[in-house]
Parts: sequence; C-alpha cells; structure tokens
Amino acid sequence: MTPRVVVIGGGICGLATAHRLVRAGVAVTLLEASDQLGGLGTFFSSRGRSVERFYHCVMPTDSALLALLDEVGARESVGWRPTRMGMIVDGVHRPFNSALDLLRFRPLSLVNRIRFGVISVLLRRLGKGKDLDLMRTEDWLRGLYGDEVWSLLLAPMFGAKFGSAFGDVPALYLWERLGRESNKSVRGYPSGGYKSVIDALRAAIEAGGGEVRTNAAVRLLEAGPDRALVTLSDGETIEADHVVSTVPLPALRAIADADLAPRLPDVRLPYQGVVNTLFFLRKPLSGHYWAPVLRSGTEFDGVIEMSALTDTELYGGRHLVYVMHYTDRESALYREDDSAIAARWTDQLLSLHKGLSRDDVDEVHVFKAPFVEPVYPLGYLTARPAVEVPGTRLLLATTAHVYPNVTSWNSSVELADSVADRLLHDIRRPSTQEHTAWSAESAR
Ligand SMILES: Cc1cc2nc3c(=O)[nH]c(=O)nc-3n(C[C@H](O)[C@H](O)[C@H](O)COP(=O)(O)OP(=O)(O)OC[C@H]3O[C@@H](n4cnc5c(N)ncnc54)[C@H](O)[C@@H]3O)c2cc1C
Repeated sequence: MTPRVVVIGGGICGLATAHRLVRAGVAVTLLEASDQLGGLGTFFSSRGRSVERFYHCVMPTDSALLALLDEVGARESVGWRPTRMGMIVDGVHRPFNSALDLLRFRPLSLVNRIRFGVISVLLRRLGKGKDLDLMRTEDWLRGLYGDEVWSLLLAPMFGAKFGSAFGDVPALYLWERLGRESNKSVRGYPSGGYKSVIDALRAAIEAGGGEVRTNAAVRLLEAGPDRALVTLSDGETIEADHVVSTVPLPALRAIADADLAPRLPDVRLPYQGVVNTLFFLRKPLSGHYWAPVLRSGTEFDGVIEMSALTDTELYGGRHLVYVMHYTDRESALYREDDSAIAARWTDQLLSLHKGLSRDDVDEVHVFKAPFVEPVYPLGYLTARPAVEVPGTRLLLATTAHVYPNVTSWNSSVELADSVADRLLHDIRRPSTQEHTAWSAESAR
C-alpha cells in the first residue's frame, strides 16, 4: 500500500517537501494552520495585487530554489536586476557600492576605509581552513577589521539581526552568507510575486495527487515507531505512516504529545522574531535596494526599497519600502499595538528622508513574525539536531536545521530535498527491487 505522509507547515519548506514526495509517488497531505500558504513568504492584497508581507528576493546563487522553480515552470518568471546599497549613519544617507563610495565614507577614518575595503574583498579567502563554527563573529571580525569598523558598522549590523547575542554567533554564519551573496549585486524577483511561486507549487502538488489543506492547524502530534497520529484543532485525526514537521521547534514542542515531547531534540535555541513595516509611497527614496540604518534615532535598523528591484507598476505606480527591526517575540515592541508602531515609524521614516512629506505616504502596514532567525550558539555544527527523531516516524525540517546556510527559501528547499530523500529511502527500503528503482530516480 502507498504510504501516507503528513507534512506539517505550508511555508516553502513544507511545500518543497510535499512536492518532492508527490513526484516520487508518495501520498501526501500538507497541513497549514493559517488561511494562506507561503509561511514567512506570505502576502496580502493591495489594489488587487498581492504583495509580500516581508521583503523577499532571490539571489543568483540560490540554485536549489531555482531548480525547484524550473520544475514548476516558474523559473523564467524571475526577473534579475543589478541592485545598489546605501548606508545611513547619523541620519546621513550615503551610497555604499564602489571603492569610490568607500573612500568618501566619512564616518570611518581614511585608514579604516581602506582597511574595510581590503579585508572585505579578502574575507571569504581569509576564512578558509579556519574552524569558524567555534569562533565568535566578534573575535574574528574585530581582529581583522579593527575596533572602529567593528563598533561603528559591524556590531550594529549584526546586533540588528541577532540582538544582544550578536557577537557570540559563530563566524561561520557570516562566512556562508558572504558565499550566498558572492559579492554580486544582482537580485531576482518573480514577476507574479512570491504568490505566483506558491500557487505554482500548490498546483504541482495537487496535480500529482497530493492534498493541500489550509486552515488546518495541528493541535496534537503523536509519533511512535510504527505510525503517527495528527490531530487538528477541529478535532479531526489523521493517521500517517510518516510525518515531516517544518514548524519551528518551540511550536513543535507545543503540539507534541507527552510521549513524543521528551524524544524531541533538547536544543533550546533562542529565536529572533521581526517587526516589519511596509510603506507604499508616492515618491522613491534613494533607489538603494538595501540601506542599514545606524545611530540615526530610528527603532528600525534597515530600509529595503523593494521597488528598486521590482517595478512601481506592480504597486499601482507607488514605491514599496520596508523597514524592520528583528527582536524577541516577548519584547515590548513586538507586543505593541500595530497602529502605534505604524504612526511612530512613519515619523521616523520622514525624519530620515527629508524630501518625503506625509502626503507622500499612501499606505502603511505592520507585520510581525515570532520565529524568523534562530540565534545559533558556538559549535552549532555539532549541536545541530538530527532530522530524524529516534524511535518515531517523525522527521524534522526546520530553520534550526539549515545552519550553516543562511535562513532563506533556498536553504529551506535544500533541506526539503535532503529530508525527502531520506524519507524515500526509508519508505523504499523493504524491497530491493523498489529501492533500486528509487535510487535511479533520485539520482536524476
Ligand atoms: C523580514 C524577512 C525577510 C526575508 N527575506 C528573505 C529573502 O529576501 N530571501 C529569502 O530567500 N528568504 C528570506 N527570508 C527568510 C525566509 O522567509 C525563511 O527562511 C523561509 O520562509 C522559512 O521557510 P519555512 O517553511 O522553513 O518556515 P515558515 O515560512 O515559517 O513556515 C512554517 C509554516 O508552518 C505553519 N505552522 C506553524 N504551526 C503550525 C501548526 N501547528 N499546524 C500547521 N501549520 C503550522 C506556519 O503557519 C507557517 O506557514 C526572510 C524572512 C523574513 C521574516
């Protein structure tokens, strides 16, 4: 009999896992708690057009994601553009792209501008052969760049992502991130938005016989050595031969039954959430896709001018800008009322961009997500939990498993591919003949 696999979570990891399994002939039910698929890549509607709640783009190095897009006929929809970066320090916005920009970057002394440029070019090479998983980011970068560059630029930028523990995150994270960005300033965006990719994945799963259910929150998960039971919040129980959970580990602990809970990995990673505000503006800002904001009296730490990558026609001729602050889901800011944040951050954006007036702000939306960035401890390569939960039919595919890769759609697809391969291996193992057939298929 065809085994039934339940995939919990309809973000990119769940969608990619379900897609991979369906293509291999497995019966799959994907369960998503909210009314939309896409997870952190979800969207809302503005003037009849779907817009991502959180800024998202594709990098040319995102090969696993691009291969998946190819399979569902969405790769050609990705438009590529060179993008530019700015740096806002003490309220002054400067371009930060070329050697000349760096030489003119007054917040740093001339010696440190040159040092910053030279080290940045060599950084990937300087990390080779070092055990960066066991080296604190602060120790590595302060040693190379010196105190001024670390305190003025790098510490605030890392603090913006990882909070107060930023200096302790393994230097390997940064090293991998540089590899993903690969000194390239080209980024991609699907012409139909991320919704078009999500729709294409759903269509491919359903065309292959898979079932995709939204508004299907898992309330209880029981998983033993022979089978698993998944109970939804409306009381329905689904029996499965295997389960793949893509929900963040703290959320998984909340749904695991008393027998399963002690078997889950004992890794208590802190997670950074995000508070992200989106503006539709009647005017462009700087044309810089990304600008970190340092020492400028704002609560947000970065400005993403999305319409520098996409087209303003997508947003009814308006310019789309996101600003964000990564923070713990229990912080006062995270718990604050959205309308208060919208009002205050609008004032802060206007104070940063003097050419912008209140009349130029057409719409403001605040979106939050509780589990975005696991804060990895030193030595996490060894501490990273296995994808198998021993003694159960449960596999894990979460952002806590993508390290040392950067959390991204690409990393989630890579992880989904490897977890699906492992599951298919287990499913096919009993029959040598079938195993050979599967091996041939998976080697494609
Ligand atoms: C502000 C921001 C900017 C980003 N920018 C980029 C970018 O430019 N490029 C890029 O590639 N990546 C970017 N990312 C990262 C990327 O979005 C994530 O790495 C990726 O979406 C993680 O996917 P996932 O499927 O692992 O998790 P998620 O997207 O979190 O999906 C998990 C899903 O599980 C569901 N769920 C939870 N509990 C249950 C339950 N009990 N029952 C059923 N379902 C449940 C959730 O509703 C959710 O849909 C960004 C993220 C943020 C927040």
